[in-house]
Amino acid sequence: MVLNGVDFDTYFKNYPNEEGFFGPYGGAYIEPELKAAMEEINEAYFTICKSRKFINELRRIRKEFQGRPTPISHLERLSNSIGDVQLYVKREDLNHSGAHKLNHCMGEALLAKYMGKKKIIAETGAGQHGVALATAAAYFGLECDIYMGSVDIKKQAPNVARMKILGARVIEVTEGLQTLKEAVDAAFAAYARDYKDTVYCIGSVLGPHPFPMMVRDFQSVVGIEAREQFLEMTGELPDVITACVGGGSNAAGFFAGFLNDPVKIYGVEPLGRGEKLGDHAASLKFGTEGIMHGFNSIMLKDENGEPAPVYSAASGLDYPSSGPEHAFLHDIGRVTYDVVDDKEAIDAFYALSRMEGIIPAIESAHAVAHAMRLAKEMKHGSILINLSGRGDKDMDYVIEHFGIPE
Ligand SMILES: *Cc1c(COP(=O)(O)O)cnc(C)c1O
Repeated sequence: MVLNGVDFDTYFKNYPNEEGFFGPYGGAYIEPELKAAMEEINEAYFTICKSRKFINELRRIRKEFQGRPTPISHLERLSNSIGDVQLYVKREDLNHSGAHKLNHCMGEALLAKYMGKKKIIAETGAGQHGVALATAAAYFGLECDIYMGSVDIKKQAPNVARMKILGARVIEVTEGLQTLKEAVDAAFAAYARDYKDTVYCIGSVLGPHPFPMMVRDFQSVVGIEAREQFLEMTGELPDVITACVGGGSNAAGFFAGFLNDPVKIYGVEPLGRGEKLGDHAASLKFGTEGIMHGFNSIMLKDENGEPAPVYSAASGLDYPSSGPEHAFLHDIGRVTYDVVDDKEAIDAFYALSRMEGIIPAIESAHAVAHAMRLAKEMKHGSILINLSGRGDKDMDYVIEHFGIPE
């Protein structure tokens, strides 16, 4: 399939290019100290990660430790409550540790081990990436430093406890607003000092090349499995697929399985409390081109051109940009990016819980809400949703902020 000059038969060979660009987006806008580190990772990725030994070990880990393949479930009661469109979910909530994030963390940590590194480091905001990486570090016997702002440490006590139980060091960042941005800066600074012994593991399809490519490739197992499973279940491809987009890793991996198919693809961004800057994190819908955290993409900026404050009830979605590949797929029109606000997401959170017995992460509930909306507009057909994670982490927050319906 060819669309606006992009040939999807050969897409994964050509995107990103050697410098890490998806069209105008991506690249590696980093300080000279980090150049050598990124080149080392890039080199290792193309030699080690393509080796049969690495691929076989990752396959075995996915099966025996992560519990892959995760199933697809048909949402029969929810579908019937809306009409004739059939809804399905790819169950990344059943991946070990409860979300898709472990897919790339196990890949990144295995790469670190093959490179002979002793330590992996990362930043975390809500703590989900920190927990997944701490899990991977424990599995491989690597040291793990997680940089986290003081404000987030106070807000996310259960995830901080989880990381510590798994043996990671949680390093408090006290600069600035003491949240994700400062944690990213601190983690990059630590990496620049210590990259000989360390690998930085980014939590989504973000950051300088080669991370957006590497994380997508590790996550593509989701889309490849889902395509095969859906064909086996129904004899055809889904008409529509949809996934939530924060940084964009679960969506990028899921979409990767279907980009060359006659399937309509949607990414769903969080509209939070509304369209005012600061009330949402819908970067592709409201943002403009810019550079942050080492890459060029579409981002939300404040009046000084700095990354704008963002908000969503789903803490995993409140990032002021999205991965460069999403900006590219948006521009060429292969993926349509839509928005869902807090309220619509919480309604879907309860609908899935009560009609299907699946409590989704609030992040994933955005994709469910979007599919429910599409199902009302379409007369027939099928929609496959990527259910990126489970909602245990969100239950207290939902009850406190949105209450329990009758
Ligand atoms: C972190 C997270 C997300 C958002 O990250 P992406 O990189 O956009 O996938 C979505 N869902 C869950 C459950 C998460 O933990």
